[in-house]
Amino acid sequence: MDKKLSKTETIHLRKKHISEACQLFFKEDPLKIVRAERQYMVDEDGNSYLDCINNVCHVGHCHPYVADEACKQIRILNTNNRYLHDNLVLLAKKLTETLPEKLCVVYLVNSGSEANDLAIRLARHYTRGTEMITLDHAYHGHVSSVMDISPYKLNTNVDGSHLKPDFVHVVPCPDSYRGKYRDDKYSPTEIGQKYAEEVKETISKIHQQGKQLCMYIAESMQSCGGQIIMPEGYLKQVYKYVHDAGGVCIADEVQVGFGRVGSHFWAFQPEGVEPDIVTMGKPMGNGHPVAAVVTTQAISDKFKASGMQYFNTYGGNPVSCAVALAVLHVIEDEKLQEHALRVGNYWINKVKEIMQHFPIIGDVRGRGLFLGIDLVRDRNTREPATQEAQTVVRRMKDEARILISSDGPYNNVLKTKPPMCFSEENVDEFCSKLTEILTDLQKVEIQTVLGDIIDNVEKSTTSARDLNQNWGRTAAVS
Ligand code: PMP
Repeated sequence: MDKKLSKTETIHLRKKHISEACQLFFKEDPLKIVRAERQYMVDEDGNSYLDCINNVCHVGHCHPYVADEACKQIRILNTNNRYLHDNLVLLAKKLTETLPEKLCVVYLVNSGSEANDLAIRLARHYTRGTEMITLDHAYHGHVSSVMDISPYKLNTNVDGSHLKPDFVHVVPCPDSYRGKYRDDKYSPTEIGQKYAEEVKETISKIHQQGKQLCMYIAESMQSCGGQIIMPEGYLKQVYKYVHDAGGVCIADEVQVGFGRVGSHFWAFQPEGVEPDIVTMGKPMGNGHPVAAVVTTQAISDKFKASGMQYFNTYGGNPVSCAVALAVLHVIEDEKLQEHALRVGNYWINKVKEIMQHFPIIGDVRGRGLFLGIDLVRDRNTREPATQEAQTVVRRMKDEARILISSDGPYNNVLKTKPPMCFSEENVDEFCSKLTEILTDLQKVEIQTVLGDIIDNVEKSTTSARDLNQNWGRTAAVS
C-alpha cells in the first residue's frame, strides 16, 4: 500500500480493469482525490477543492469523531448481527426517536439500493398488491428490483436491456417549473392538486385492470429529476389516494435525510405526511456503507408472519452501527441541522439576488443545503441552457476548484448538496465565481446577438451593393 501510482498510471489501470460503465465525475478530466477534510477535497498535487456535491460525507469528510468511533469498534469486534450487540439496538432507538412514533421497527442494511429493495418486499407482503407507482426521472438504486422503479436510468438504457415492467406505473415528476403543470399557468395549490390527480388516475387505471396497488415511492425532494421541491399539498393528497387504495407510501430519504433540509430532520416532514416506510442511506455513514429501512410494527409483523427469516451478513454490524451512531451524535453536537437552515437560506437568497442580473437563471429552488439553479436560454420559453450549465460546471472546477454537478431531464440544473459544515464564506466563494462565469456567458450572448445583427446588416448592404451593380449592369445593357 506504500506505493503511490501517478495519475496516469491510475487512469491506465482503471481503463484496463474497471468497466467504463462505472461512472466518473468529470470524465474528460477526472480528479484523483487523495484525501479530504470537512468540505474540502485534495488532489494528488495538493490542490484543494471546495466540495459542493458530496452529500454522503454529511458531517464533513473524514470527521475525526466518526473516524475514531469506527477505529475503536473495529479493534474490538466486527461480526454479523446474529449476536446481541448494544450498537445495533442503540442505533435503532436513536433513529426511531427522529421519526414519527408509528415508524418504530428498523432493518439495517448496507446501501440505499438494498434499503429500497427491502422496502419493496415489505410493501408486497403487507399489501399483497402487485402494482407500483414511481415518479418520472426518479432514481432509487442500482439493483434490478429498484432499477424497475427508476425511470432516471430506464430512460437512458438505449439498448432496452432493462425495460420498465408492466407492474410499474410512472407518474409525472411534480416539477412546477418545467414539468407538465407549471407555475406560469397555475397557482401553487393547483399545481399540487393537478400532479396528485395524475396519481389518482393511475390508481383508477390499475383498478380497471383488476389489479391491486402495492406502493407509491418518491424521494421527499427529488434530487435526480433536477432538485425538485414538491408542490404545495401534493404529497399529502397523494398519500391519501394511495392509502385509500390499500397501498403503502415509501419515502426515499437516501439523499435528502438527516437534517439536510434544515427546518426538519427528514425531508418528508415539511410536507406534513407520515410515510409507512422510510429508507435511508448515504449520509447515514458519512461514507461508510450503512443504510436502513424503518417501518411500522404492522408492516414488519406481516413480513415475519410469512415465515421470513431476514438475514443480511453485513447489515447492522457493530462497526457500521458505531459509525451511524457517531454521525447522529455529530449532527446533534455541532447543531448541523440548524446550520444547514441558516447557510441554506443565505445561499438561496444570494442566488436569487444574482438571478435579478442574469436572465439565464430561470429558477432557483431549494431547502436547506439542497439547491438547484435552473439555467434557461429564454425565461419565457424556459428553453434549457444545457451547454451553458456544462460550461459553468467545468469552469467552476478548472478555474476556481469548486465542485458542482448538473442534473435534470435536460442536464441544465446546477445541483449542490454539500457536506453539512458548508459555510457562508463557501457560499460567497461559490456566488462570486458563478457571477463571473454568468457575466462571461452573457457577454458571449451579447456578442453573438451583435454578430448576428452585424451579419444581417452586412448581408443587406451586400445585397444593396449587388442590386446597385445589377442596376449598373442593366443600365449598361440597356
Ligand atoms: N435512492 C436515492 C434517492 C439515491 O440517490 C440513491 C443513490 N444515488 C439510491 C437510492 C441508491 O443508493 P446506493 O447507491 O447506496 O445503493
